[in-house]
Amino acid sequence: MDKIQMTTPLVEMDGDEMTRILWSMIKEELLLPFIDLKTEYYDLGLEHRNETDDQVTADSANATKKYGVAVKCATITPNAARMDEYHLKEMWKSPNGTIRAMLDGTVFRAPIIVKGIEPCVKNWKKPITIARHAYGDVYKASELKIKGAGKVELVYTAEDGSETRELIHNFTNAGVVQGQHNLNSSIESFARSCFTYALDVGQDLWFATKDTISKKYDHTFKDIFQEIFDAEYKDAFEKAGITYFYTLIDDAVARVMKSEGGYIWACKNYDGDVMSDMISSAFGSLAMMTSVLVSPSGYYEYEAAHGTVQRHYYKHLNGEETSTNSVATIFAWSGALRKRGEIDNNQLLMDFADKLESACIQTIEDGKMTKDLALITSISNPTVLNSQDFIRAIRQKLEELL
Ligand code: NAP
Ligand code: MG
Repeated sequence: MDKIQMTTPLVEMDGDEMTRILWSMIKEELLLPFIDLKTEYYDLGLEHRNETDDQVTADSANATKKYGVAVKCATITPNAARMDEYHLKEMWKSPNGTIRAMLDGTVFRAPIIVKGIEPCVKNWKKPITIARHAYGDVYKASELKIKGAGKVELVYTAEDGSETRELIHNFTNAGVVQGQHNLNSSIESFARSCFTYALDVGQDLWFATKDTISKKYDHTFKDIFQEIFDAEYKDAFEKAGITYFYTLIDDAVARVMKSEGGYIWACKNYDGDVMSDMISSAFGSLAMMTSVLVSPSGYYEYEAAHGTVQRHYYKHLNGEETSTNSVATIFAWSGALRKRGEIDNNQLLMDFADKLESACIQTIEDGKMTKDLALITSISNPTVLNSQDFIRAIRQKLEELL
C-alpha cells in the first residue's frame, strides 16, 4: 500500500514522561507505516525546555501561527519537586499557558464516546464540549479583608485624572471584598473562537452568564457575544443549520442535565473550571477527553486533556508493566491530521483520521482495553491490555479498516 502523502507539515510538540513513551509508540505503530508523515518537530520535554530557557515553547507557538495546525503531547508544569528532579534553572511556566497566551486561544474539551463506557447521566448520548474562557474574573481578582466599620468603593481614574466612583458597601463591621476585571478584547477573542469552532464541528453553541444579577459585568459578556454573532457569524450559522443560544447559567445547568448532548457549552472562567470537571468525570474517564486550543484567527492545537501520567511513568522506569490509555493522545493526532487534511484539501488524510478513530473505538467496543477503562466498563470480561499491546490491537483494527 502506498503511504498517504502530506503537502504541509504539522507542528509536532513532544512532551514528558508516560505520554512521551506513548507518543513514540503511536508514531511507530499507527502513523509512520501508513503516512509519509511531515512534521516540524519541537521537543517540549522539560529537559529541552530547560536547555533552551523555554525558547522552544515560544518557537513551537510561532510555528503554529505559521502552519495553522499543531499536535501536542502532555508536558510537565514545573513545581518545587520538579525543580530538584530535573535540576531546573528556573520554574518555567506551563507550556500550555504560554502557547494559549501567544495564540490568544480558547480550549475546547470533549469526551470520546464508546459503547460500554456509559455516562453517569443516562440521557447523555452525544459529547458535550466545554469551552472555558481563560482570562480574568476571580482568577485575576484583588481582595481585601475588611477589619471593621468603613466605606469601600470602586474607583476608576481615567488618564485625564477624572474619577468615577461606585459604592461597594458601607461596612459597619468586619467583612470581605473582591475586585474583578475582564477585557473586551479578551471576551471578543473568546467569542470568535467559540463561533469559529461551532462552525468547524457543526454543533450548536450555548453560552450562559448571570446577566440578570450582574447587569454590567456579565451583561457585557452577553452583549459582546450577541454583537459579534449578529455582525460576523449569523449567516454562516444559518447556512450550517446550527444555532447560537444564550441563557442564564442556572437555566443552562438544568438544560444540560436533561439534554442528550451534542453541543458546545461556552463558560466564563470560573464556570468553565467547575463545569469541565463535572462533565469530564460524568462522562467516565479523564483518559478519554480530548482538548483543542482554537485561536480567533483559526489556528488549532490538539492534545489530550490528561497530564503526563507520572505514576505510570515511574512504574515503567522500574521495569514494571503499564496499562496506560493512549486514546486521547491518538485522537490528538487524528484531530490534527484531519484538520491538516481539511486545510490542504487532502481527502486521503481526512479518511485516515476517521479510520484511526474508528479503530480505537471498535477495539474498546470489542472488549480490548486498558486497565482504567476495564474498571468502569459495562462490557463483561474485558481483556486488559498493557500500553504497547493496546496500541498493537488498535493497529490490527486499523489495518482491517484500511
Ligand atoms: P495526570 O497525568 O492526568 O494523571 C492523573 C491520574 O489519572 C493518573 O495517575 C492515572 O490514575 C489517571 N490517568 C490520567 N491519564 C491516564 C491515561 N491516559 N491512562 C490511564 N490513566 C490515566 O495528572 P497528574 O499525575 O496530576 O500530573 C502529572 C503531570 O502532568 C504534572 O507534572 C502536570 O504538570 C502535568 N499535566 C500536564 C497537562 C498538559 O500538558 N496538558 C495537563 C495536566 C497535567 P492512576 O494512577 O490511578 O492509574
Ligand atoms: Mg479545575
